[in-house]
Amino acid sequence: MTESSSEAAARAIALREQIEGHNRSYYDHDDPTVGDDQYDALLNELRDLEAAYPELVTLDSPTQRVGSRRLERFEPVQHAIPMLSLGNARGGEEFRAWVERMRSHLERESIAIDDFNFVVEPKIDGLAVSLRYEDGVFVTGATRGDGTVGEDITQNLQTISSIPKRIESAPRVLEVRGEVYLPIADFRELNERRAAAGESTFMNPRNSAAGSLRQLDPAIAAERPLAIWCYGVGELEGDQFTGHRDSLKRLADWGFPVNPDIAAVTGADAVIKACDGWLERRESLPYEIDGVVIKVDDFELQRRLGTVGREPRWAIAWKFPPTTAKTLLRAVHWNVGRTGHIVPFAELEPVQIGGVTVSFTTLHNEEDLARKDVRPGDQVIILRAGDVIPQVISPAPHESQRTDRSDPPHVPAECPSCGAATVKVANSVWTICPNKQGCPGQQWQALRHFVKRGAMDIEGLGDKRLEELMEAGLAVTPADLYSLDWSLLEEREGWGERSVEALKESLAASRERPFAKVLYGLGIERIGEVNARNLAQHFRTIEALMEADPEQIEAVQGIGPIQAELVAETVREPEFVELIRGLRAAGIRLEEDGPAAGEGHLADKSFVLTGSLPTLTREQATEMILAAGGRVSSSVSKKTDYLIAGEAAGSKLEKAERLEVTVLDEDGLNKLLAG
Ligand SMILES: [Zn+2]
Repeated sequence: MTESSSEAAARAIALREQIEGHNRSYYDHDDPTVGDDQYDALLNELRDLEAAYPELVTLDSPTQRVGSRRLERFEPVQHAIPMLSLGNARGGEEFRAWVERMRSHLERESIAIDDFNFVVEPKIDGLAVSLRYEDGVFVTGATRGDGTVGEDITQNLQTISSIPKRIESAPRVLEVRGEVYLPIADFRELNERRAAAGESTFMNPRNSAAGSLRQLDPAIAAERPLAIWCYGVGELEGDQFTGHRDSLKRLADWGFPVNPDIAAVTGADAVIKACDGWLERRESLPYEIDGVVIKVDDFELQRRLGTVGREPRWAIAWKFPPTTAKTLLRAVHWNVGRTGHIVPFAELEPVQIGGVTVSFTTLHNEEDLARKDVRPGDQVIILRAGDVIPQVISPAPHESQRTDRSDPPHVPAECPSCGAATVKVANSVWTICPNKQGCPGQQWQALRHFVKRGAMDIEGLGDKRLEELMEAGLAVTPADLYSLDWSLLEEREGWGERSVEALKESLAASRERPFAKVLYGLGIERIGEVNARNLAQHFRTIEALMEADPEQIEAVQGIGPIQAELVAETVREPEFVELIRGLRAAGIRLEEDGPAAGEGHLADKSFVLTGSLPTLTREQATEMILAAGGRVSSSVSKKTDYLIAGEAAGSKLEKAERLEVTVLDEDGLNKLLAG
């Protein structure tokens, strides 16, 4: 072997090991250690290497398989027709080259094509599945697996309401293929719920969809608002389609969800235009896409083109530019949060991802940091998905093999803000600063939370200003904001008369915020906006809440035993009692003045809101329902009385229809409220 080929051989082995490692974390643990773009980059590098040195190709190389490893716990399902993977093009030039390759392949068979008819579809970032119907009855649902053998997840797929369980005038055998995904809004909500319950959160919608479908208990999958887009037909007996477009139309007629934006176009230019259109809309779609799939429409041409390896010649994935980037992790710093948690964050060499510059990003907690094993001085991979806050997901390839790496960072023994000795919380990923009363970091975070939108919504108090107020000793707790020494403030640089007046007005307006907002603003651990509202409605006054024991608190809708303990503990702390005294003196609302639970003409009726209403904001609709004595919760269940659905209502609407919950639009809501 020449020197370069032995180097290539070593590199190929290293790449295979890395890819297999990522496959294991992704498929066996539903827990990807790298993003897709990085995974693809590794696979592409290996492919290029094997193309240059064909002697290096091994039978078990990841390039020779479609990608997934099969889990043992589900029954295997043999695909009658393999579920292929797609080659990819990164942009117009590579796409045109692909079209030319098809053209010359067909020319060799003496078929001349001027302009191909293509079908252009969004490439949904989800989990590919196969749905098998016999005589119109849904009999088997399976994952793609390794392309030849998948997993039997029929029971989990049966929980997806948009998948028809029976179809009319069906062929003898029909196998439908599609992509199961979790809509972005539902993904966020699921993560918020999990975070509130102290469970680990999912990294992205695809990860959570895959994790949900791999649950052995179908009840768990049923709880997750999964959706599907169907995009093709596999095995077919007793029927014929002329082309892809024709098959999609038939699927839609049978009641399968087929993306309405799938377009049929002629010629490469039209495809490129359509792909640019998808790229432009990418961020505003309610589901995640990582590219576009382009297929030759005509089935006869598809057959003539055939496959090469495990990839069809007649289809290609147009991959969108990555939402990941590589940069230097300059340092790991630690911050103290509102409730004392010591939280790591990354200082990065500034890097552009999807049009924004990222210099700092969260690292969640020490355990997460250890799991990712990123260390100062490493090149790291940053992911930005949708409009989610960018996050560090892993070291760049090869970084973990470097011998000159710095030590893994550990949570500091002293609070980075006040210097108090930190305390590891038992059975938890957290270490906290126990100095609740005198930790400036915690106080600043508590002030930020109090003034923010959704809580007291006090304008004119940005991070810098709050810091200034604290440093000058003018405000330490939220109550202090209502007794500011204005003369001292006006003397300070940057606090002109006008900004002081605006702040005075804003503070005065905040006295009108309802009790639920105040309660949320108090920043009790694990009490978000919905819980705060339910607590306010249930206990009516802050005194009643402060006297309640954990059992009474647990009786409130949505509050679990651990949360109840935390709330009962917090409201008895001397600093909390002191804060309430200060807020009362400042004239802040500490009583609920809407109707009590059980009063009002919508008493005890449960509502869920989804989609956007024509004139009301979600906030306004919620206030109106509460004012009439109703309750608002975030997910649809059998106990839901009404779903208020606006435009772009997604899986909640489907679920409501399945559970036969009454669905109203804004007009219907208004009529109901008017009695
Ligand atoms: Zn501290």
